Amino acid sequence: MTETIHTLVIGGGQAGVATSAHLQSQGVPHLVLERDRIAERWRTWRWDSLVANGPAWHDRFPEAEFTDLDPEEFAPKEAVADYFVRFASDRNLPIRTGVEVTNLGRQGSTFRAVTSQGTVEARNVVVATGPFQKPVIPTVITLSGITQLHSSAYRNPAALPEGAVLVVGAGSSGAQIAEELVRAGRQVYLSVGPHDRPPRRYRGQDFVWWLGKLGKWDMKAPTPGTEHVTIAVSGAYGGHTMDFRRLAGLGVTLLGRAGGCRDGVLHLADDLAANIAKGDANYLSVLDEADAYATAQGLELPDEPEARVLHPLPDCVTTPTLALDLKRAGIATVIWATGFQLDFGWIDLDIFRPDGRPRHQDGVTEVPGLYFVGLPWLSCRGSAFIWGAWRDAERLAGLIARGAG
Ligand SMILES: Cc1cc2nc3c(=O)[nH]c(=O)nc-3n(C[C@H](O)[C@H](O)[C@H](O)COP(=O)(O)OP(=O)(O)OC[C@H]3O[C@@H](n4cnc5c(N)ncnc54)[C@H](O)[C@@H]3O)c2cc1C
Repeated sequence: MTETIHTLVIGGGQAGVATSAHLQSQGVPHLVLERDRIAERWRTWRWDSLVANGPAWHDRFPEAEFTDLDPEEFAPKEAVADYFVRFASDRNLPIRTGVEVTNLGRQGSTFRAVTSQGTVEARNVVVATGPFQKPVIPTVITLSGITQLHSSAYRNPAALPEGAVLVVGAGSSGAQIAEELVRAGRQVYLSVGPHDRPPRRYRGQDFVWWLGKLGKWDMKAPTPGTEHVTIAVSGAYGGHTMDFRRLAGLGVTLLGRAGGCRDGVLHLADDLAANIAKGDANYLSVLDEADAYATAQGLELPDEPEARVLHPLPDCVTTPTLALDLKRAGIATVIWATGFQLDFGWIDLDIFRPDGRPRHQDGVTEVPGLYFVGLPWLSCRGSAFIWGAWRDAERLAGLIARGAG
């Protein structure tokens, strides 16, 4: 069976829902195909206690508020997924769930999508299959008797085998998971690489507010290859700054970057103090920029000098462990919070760079009628976030409605 539609959107996460809403309001006939459920990744690719990294007033589409949350609250992940489902159903968006696109090609000027339920032909295609598609697990540890999983498969402390846990990677996911585990009474080791760690709040405002004021959400991608910055932030427990000294105070043993593992011994780079110092410098630079902005704009915000007080470094940073015997440390589980990569193997079009990323300008590819939305740094730093995807989707839907690329 072949179905024909003006515009096909592939993926029904927040980026696909946003694209559909804008296509609808611009009068473009379209269909969204989602292989699972709407916003599936918020439900089944995230741990149970995850809340949004930004408060509810910020992490949402501009035209719909969270109805059951205080604007300053951090939405639990199920509430985020429900929000997108409700948004789609309130607008009667044409989203067909349970249909996977297994191949996308082009015949003449028509796109041909082979799906699990037949073929769809379209003049335009918007690929909205997510910024985080395939878990990355470096295969450095080969040791029997240790459970290894990616952060996208972690659920809660009780679901892990008894024993200590090594969390590799200290971005938002790794840092939050390590904190949850140590609070649950687990012995936790956390491998910390280079990172940014902005303050959760400063002078009465959340950091997402400051990023907006300082123009950081709108930043274009920096030098190619340096786009990825590991950022440790958390909305958990009401939201607090991710300070690794505080995690060490709770009992987490901080480690440097994980290297190779030989004979059950994990080798760690001697870079922990440098990574912590870089994170501190980033933290302090945000305070400096915020102060400068407040002064320049004459904002009357309460001073917060105590935010600049950094506590002494814990022993695990000043005398770091450089080799960890996993069995002797009682480690039963390794959680790889080491990120994701793209996976566009199902697209048969010559538009990819050697690293697998599509060639595009702000989401517009060199193939007429083919667009991407929701990718990190698609048009700016905010592009993979909820409201950023909304803004990119609006612009791309406008191009499609005008029949231009
Ligand atoms: C742990 C974590 C926490 C995050 N927290 C926040 C936050 O608090 N705030 C924020 O703004 N952002 C956050 N993000 C970033 C971003 O908002 C999420 O990654 C979000 O899920 C991205 O939405 P998306 O629609 O672009 O992609 P996805 O949610 O990944 O949706 C893509 C959809 O496409 C479907 N799909 C894929 N391939 C096909 C195919 N071939 N055929 C049909 N369907 C397909 C998938 O099933 C999926 O439902 C977080 C990310 C992570 C990993």
